[in-house]
Amino acid sequence: MNFHPKPRITETLSGILSEEELRIQRDKEKIRERPARPPHIPTRAVVCYECRRSSEVPLAALSAKCCYCHAYINLGDVTIFPGSSKRRIRTQGDVLIRSDVNINHLNICCHKLAMQGKGSGSFHCTGTMSISSETSVAGWITAHTLHIERRGSVTLRKGARVQDALIQGTLMGTIQAMGRVTIARGGRLLGDVAAAELVIDEGGIHRGQRFLPPQQTTA
Ligand SMILES: [Zn+2]
Repeated sequence: MNFHPKPRITETLSGILSEEELRIQRDKEKIRERPARPPHIPTRAVVCYECRRSSEVPLAALSAKCCYCHAYINLGDVTIFPGSSKRRIRTQGDVLIRSDVNINHLNICCHKLAMQGKGSGSFHCTGTMSISSETSVAGWITAHTLHIERRGSVTLRKGARVQDALIQGTLMGTIQAMGRVTIARGGRLLGDVAAAELVIDEGGIHRGQRFLPPQQTTA
């Protein structure tokens, strides 16, 4: 047998509630029983390009303030099209370099970058930089992940510093990876590689030397 912890006090003289009043009371109890949970807002991590620290921001936000150094962080996506005059881009959104673009002297800091056309300059991506075009990059590439797609053929005049790399097309130049470099079937890496792990799939080619990555300095 179940006992109610509190006696039900009713406001009607007879003590009998109408169906409608009972329903309202049950709904009120349900609301009271429900634990107060903050609404779930999807977030993502963005890296401040002033202090390099990571903050969580709502997925839909178009700009944010770094919670450490209060720098303004642009989160908008940018498309580079033929005739784009902007060379220096700072965003934690994504950048697309369109396939009909041939542009030099770019200086881009962003989250993900998709290079479909020919773009040269220096690139810093906190996410994945993927290249699907035939291009030559004069400056440094730093990225979390560098992906040379099957159609991609890239010459790096300085080099790339990444966490991981996946080479399905052709990469000419040197690459430093703290994690793993994978040369997939049909992929070619023509240059030296310093990586913690080097995986060459059957049908993948590496011409160059392999070193261990420079040790991360411990403070
Ligand atoms: Zn900051």
